[in-house]
Amino acid sequence: MTKTNDRHITLIGAGLAGAVLATLLVQRGWRVDVYEKRGDPRVQGYGGGRSINLALAERGRHALRLAGADDAVMKHAVMMRGRMVHFLDGRTDLQRYGRDDSEVIWSVHRGELNVVLLDIAERAGARLHFDRGLSAVDFDARIATFTDPRDGSTHQAAFESLVGADGAGSALRAAMTMHVELGERTESLGHSYKELEIPPARDGSFSIEPNALHIWPRGRYMCIALPNDERTFTVTLFLPNEGDPSFATVRTGHDARALFERDFADALPLIPQLEEDFERNPAGILATLYLDRWHLDGRAVLLGDAAHAMVPFHGQGMNCAFEDCVALAEHLDATHDRAAAFAAFQADRLPNARAIQQMALENYLEMRDRVDDDDYLLQRALERELAQRHPDRFMPRYAMVTFHRIPYATAFERGRQQRELLVELTRGHASLDTLDWNVVDAAVRERLSPLPVDA
Ligand code: FAD
Repeated sequence: MTKTNDRHITLIGAGLAGAVLATLLVQRGWRVDVYEKRGDPRVQGYGGGRSINLALAERGRHALRLAGADDAVMKHAVMMRGRMVHFLDGRTDLQRYGRDDSEVIWSVHRGELNVVLLDIAERAGARLHFDRGLSAVDFDARIATFTDPRDGSTHQAAFESLVGADGAGSALRAAMTMHVELGERTESLGHSYKELEIPPARDGSFSIEPNALHIWPRGRYMCIALPNDERTFTVTLFLPNEGDPSFATVRTGHDARALFERDFADALPLIPQLEEDFERNPAGILATLYLDRWHLDGRAVLLGDAAHAMVPFHGQGMNCAFEDCVALAEHLDATHDRAAAFAAFQADRLPNARAIQQMALENYLEMRDRVDDDDYLLQRALERELAQRHPDRFMPRYAMVTFHRIPYATAFERGRQQRELLVELTRGHASLDTLDWNVVDAAVRERLSPLPVDA
């Protein structure tokens, strides 16, 4: 059995958050053991996870810079300047995310990212234990039991504190609920997703614009596609679970082809294995996990998806998890009292997690239903204009969340105030040409205080 002492900590899960947190803590002088249910992806290849690529934004990159991982990760990243909207009639329109190429997001391959982060954590000095799935915890004796999925053998390790970076289905969370009421509830979105693939073109190049996140918005449902550095795109089809079309009516590869012929006609020729992909890949469930409490005194704490899984429509789940890692490392450094550090971490992060969970839900409606709507496009045009005229007071919510580290809760509240203003100022107008800019500027100065700046 492993012995523990002060400044020793045990992480559950060597996924994205686990690997980053391990590095940050080792850098600060902690001895870190990380237990991962799966085998080492650097040896056996990356087998897990349904989302093949992820959008990396400034919050995530900030954590990666602190962990000394940003350069290595960015070697595999593909820039996405904006949303390329594919209309039903085949027209396309690139809607930029930011002002210029300094405000973009990056598509990274989940498996490659995990491998890079594990290498960095191990090189820093974290001890990684693969094929060790947490299966039971004796919180009184402070002993964790791990099961090797290959042969069912069990292994025990003593711990001072456990950190649950073991994802949405967290085993640590389940063990904690036997000791403390976490107030857990999961709200299903009622929509699911399937992944499909666009291979490279015949000449080996990307077959559609690589530097964009492609969206085919269709009201109650949509498709998106993100570029990979091997010149493929991962396509994700989001559909409701019920109604028509839905995963209840689109059940076979043949049904999927019919749906694409009707609704995603320009995407269809790009996905030669549509039927096979559709029938082989499982439908992923979309849900939001809420907890009222993230820790059990100083013995256990949860972060990332284990604490606050969210729907993926803001591309922030991993970014938020990385921001959690920085916050937890800082709170652990600030006091020797682990219970106090975990409580401070929860007080700091829980309101922000709630805010991004809500914004992620709202973004689904925006992506599938509003990006081709005239009122929305006018409000966006005014938003861009106001961001230029009043950079210290007006920043699009997407920019606050994606290109800055303004706390999510602040971005959420400011976003609400700004949205009200945009709706009011554009009401009755079909273009920006008819606006009275004196009135507009006065309203911004009166209603919006100067924005906080990134720390
Ligand atoms: P995970 O990445 O799930 O890692 C958990 C780790 O714990 C895994 O390695 C797992 O094997 C291990 N584990 C599980 N159980 C045990 C156990 N009992 N014992 C030991 N180890 C265990 N986020 C973004 O920022 N941008 C995006 O564009 C984006 N797109 C997404 C698209 C989809 C379709 C989905 C579903 C999610 C997306 N996300 C995105 C969210 C992102 O994937 C998660 O927020 C992120 O992976 C959370 O990291 P984590 O380390 O908390 O959990």
